[in-house]
Amino acid sequence: MNFMNTTGKVYLVGAGPGEPGLITVRGKSLLERAEVVIYDYLANAKLLSYVPESAELIYVGKKGGAVHNHSQEEINALLVEKVAAGKMVVRLKGGDPFIFGRGGEELEVMHERGLPFEVVPGVTSASAAATYAGIPITHRDHTATVAFITGHEDPTKGFSNIDWEKLATGAGTLVIYMGIKNLPLIVEKLLTFGRPPETPVAVVRWASTPHQQSVTGTLQNIVEEIKSAGITAPAIIVIGEVVSLRDRLDWFEKRPLFHKRILVTRTRDQASALVTGLEECGASCLECATINIQPLEDYTKLDNELERLAEYHWLLFTSINGIKYFFKRLHSKGMDARDLKGPAFGCVGKATADALFQYGINADLIPETFTGEGLAKSLLDQGVEGRNILIPRARDGQEYLPETLRGAGAQVVVAPVYQNIPENAQAEEVHRELEEGSIDMITFTSSSTVTNFIAMLGIKSKEELQRLLGGVRIAAIGPITANTVLDSGLDVDVAAEEHSIEGLIKAITRYWQITP
Ligand code: SAH
Repeated sequence: MNFMNTTGKVYLVGAGPGEPGLITVRGKSLLERAEVVIYDYLANAKLLSYVPESAELIYVGKKGGAVHNHSQEEINALLVEKVAAGKMVVRLKGGDPFIFGRGGEELEVMHERGLPFEVVPGVTSASAAATYAGIPITHRDHTATVAFITGHEDPTKGFSNIDWEKLATGAGTLVIYMGIKNLPLIVEKLLTFGRPPETPVAVVRWASTPHQQSVTGTLQNIVEEIKSAGITAPAIIVIGEVVSLRDRLDWFEKRPLFHKRILVTRTRDQASALVTGLEECGASCLECATINIQPLEDYTKLDNELERLAEYHWLLFTSINGIKYFFKRLHSKGMDARDLKGPAFGCVGKATADALFQYGINADLIPETFTGEGLAKSLLDQGVEGRNILIPRARDGQEYLPETLRGAGAQVVVAPVYQNIPENAQAEEVHRELEEGSIDMITFTSSSTVTNFIAMLGIKSKEELQRLLGGVRIAAIGPITANTVLDSGLDVDVAAEEHSIEGLIKAITRYWQITP
């Protein structure tokens, strides 16, 4: 076969050290076009979400030194086969493919067969581990040189390629990959060849990920230190005076929610601003959809009200979904914002008002407290006697708002525009993490997330719920949600003062700052 006539090509792409955001823009855009992706243990699987659904995904394992799913020969053969078949192949490797990644070997095979290839560098774990531990690997006051060294030389080789005698004092900063197992040996060589025993050392495991763990010490005690901390691979070892800067420059592990695992209950189609915000503060989030928002089968009620919009004084929205599904129906009837010029608009909070603005309408009323009660109170302050009020909202929503307004003499019509369908696709995963005790906190942003979450877990009694969630802290966005939590037999540890996503994030961060 003449391979030169194929259109296939392999792109050897560096995935970066772990944090998915550290892939290059070029790497991401290649993943978006890939037909075949061949990936390793150290490449973050989250990156696979960029790959088209039609692409073939092949995991080739490779846990440093341990069980190899595929031998290097098998991987090489796979690459040749896919490229020769005309495929656009992304070979995704952890860190940088040309730094202790055997990327060179894979491409030599391509070269021998006359098959085309390109390489995209990645953020290598040496640089990421040091950076995410607050250690600049060079610094004018400390060192002008840095050496990248493998600590895992092929044990069958019988001789060493590493001249420890020259390295011990020849480079200011030494960064060692794959060195955990051999660390006692490495330390011994460095000390023998004249590196001072008080030289600072940092060991960083799973750098740039929510599981990052760092240990610092000196050449003299680091072996003991990592043993008592239980550090295993994958980890990077940084040796040199620059390590002392970590005391001042540590930033990643200092974030307020670092090492906190937070289960975020949410509806399926909500853009998760909460998850993004919590992750920015250092948390690791397990997103769990408890509700699937669906349109209704029957819109007769809303349709009737749309005919007489001009008679309404107020339209009230208590959720973003209420707005979304209201406008969907309005538009499907050939109507638009111009048909809404009669009534005034009230929104339960800022996020809802922002969503309304997307449809070209400025809210006339946003309460000071972003709750149904808050909205009711603001309206009562204005006087609602004899006013016609329409509330498009979820089919099984809270009755407080309409009832309070009716009590004050308003004519209120509640028009359902969407429904909450329970969702339990993640029940098993959530159960497992709760049983393992790995969840620190659960957030609830509405009463229905509470009831649907409990239903999803298939829990029948308060005792069972208290047992499963024992030790897990609970955060609620507002008082109604908090009451639903209390009614279910659980405690509320965090109640947001400002009933919004930002308010909830603020309250959670404050809580963990004062709670051990
Ligand atoms: N090509 C990769 C290195 C592969 S060798 C790169 O450029 O980073 C595998 C070694 O890399 C591991 O044994 C460990 O020493 C290091 N490593 C990879 N990812 C790491 C991470 N997130 N944190 C710490 N060390 C990591």
